[in-house]
This record gives sequence, structure tokens and C-alpha cells, in this order.
Amino acid sequence: MLKVTNLVKSFGALDVLKGISFEIKQGEVLAIIGPSGSGKSTLIRCLNYLEQPQQGIIEIDNARLDAAKPTKKDIQHLRSKTAMVFQNYNLYKNKTALENVTESLIVVKKTPKAEANKMGMQLLSEVGLEAKRDNYPVTMSGGQQQRVSIARALAQKPHVILFDEPTSSLDPELVQEVLHVIKKLAEQKITMIIVTHEMDFAREVADHIIFMADGHIVEQGPAKEFFANAQQERTKKFIRQIT
Ligand code: ADP
Ligand code: MG
Repeated sequence: MLKVTNLVKSFGALDVLKGISFEIKQGEVLAIIGPSGSGKSTLIRCLNYLEQPQQGIIEIDNARLDAAKPTKKDIQHLRSKTAMVFQNYNLYKNKTALENVTESLIVVKKTPKAEANKMGMQLLSEVGLEAKRDNYPVTMSGGQQQRVSIARALAQKPHVILFDEPTSSLDPELVQEVLHVIKKLAEQKITMIIVTHEMDFAREVADHIIFMADGHIVEQGPAKEFFANAQQERTKKFIRQIT
């Protein structure tokens, strides 16, 4: 359902992604781990075309983008099939929780407001925040804001949700409420790619793990095997350090 072939991205002279290839199936959860600066954020930002890769093929549910010569339509397609959840939530500060969730429904999908609000409330209830519908971001905790941002991503009905370290801005006591929501989505077989440092979470929820370093995939495999039986010295060292 999502296949990436030989993705290459550089910023000027800095080669950040040096030929990344992987695929995931519908309903799977992929966790991307690796040291800071290894290119994890750049990779998932390329999948939503927030960054423009120079080379590589991204195929998602019958749509295909060739990064060497993408058309506007390819880019629109890719964006419509992916939704991002950012480390810092990136909510609209001047909109309520409900308005944040319904914005894309009303503006992009032209859903009538009453219907969008109904869908928005359903999504807020899925992340346990019906009661916060009229709250502005500044009046919510980081964990609540991140749950609104997950509801907003779900509203787009994307084929895959991309999470960039969704819990690393949160105070420790708020991490679990966000991980719990993501775990529930995994149980509903929502396809997700999650950059994370939460190894216990990755072990429990991900089907597949990719370990990146220096713009390469050093090692990848099914989660159970990956943690029990990493092959590369570099991977073993990383797992030891972080757990
Ligand atoms: P990670 O998410 O694994 O920590 P990033 O993808 O954020 O890594 O960054 C990988 C490398 O690319 C780093 O050296 C970073 O400084 C560089 N980089 C990321 N974004 C940009 C940018 N917009 N312009 C220049 N360099 C960037
Ligand atoms: Mg990052």
C-alpha cells in the first residue's frame, strides 16, 4: 500500500537521505528509530511532500510519484493520502479543538458545517476529548493538544498517518495518554508510520521497525525479531543505549 524506492534528499551539500527503500502494507504500523540527525523527520516529511526529495519513487495506494519529475497532480495525490502529526502539535491557535478538527473537512472537502461538526465530535470522542470541543489550544495540556492533532489527522481520512515523535514534547505524565490513543488506532488497523524514541511502545505496537543512521536504513525487520535478535552492531548498541 505504501512503497518507497531509493529515496534521496539533500539540503545543499548535505546528503540527508541516501537511498531509502521500504514498504508497508495496509493496516500495519511501522516505527522508525535512530539517533538524532539520522534523517527520520526528513524521511516522513518527504512522504507528505513537506520536503521535496530529489530522487526516488513513492507509491501509495495506486498513486505513484517520481521525485525526479513529479506533476502537481502527483503531489496533490500524495498529500491527500497522508496526514502528519507533528512533535509540537501545530494546531491553529485561534481555533477551538472542534474547529481544528473540522477545518480540512469544511475548507478542503467542502463538507457542510453541520455535518463536519458531527464528524468532528465523533473524532473528538475517539480521542476522549468531547468535553474540550470549545477549548482553544492554549487552554489544553500538551497531551490534549496532541490528541486534537490526531483527531485532525483522522478527519482527512488518510491512507497513512505519519507521526514525527508525537510524544517527545510532552511532560512524562502525559506521554501515556497519547500513546494509548495511537495504540487504539493500531487496533483499528489504521496504517501508521511513527518516528519514536519510545522503545517499549515500538516493541508493543509496531509490526515493523526501521533503524536509521546517517541517512541509511541500517537494519529493518518485524518488531519481535528486531528487538530480540538485531544483527548489526550499530543497532544493538542503539537499543542498549535507549532502553
Ligand atoms: P532526525 O529527525 O533523525 O533527527 P532530521 O531529518 O531532522 O533528523 O535531520 C537530518 C539532517 O538534515 C540533520 O543534519 C539536519 O540538520 C539536516 N536538516 C534537516 N532539515 C533541514 C533543512 N530544512 N535545511 C538544512 N538542513 C536540514
Ligand atoms: Mg526528527
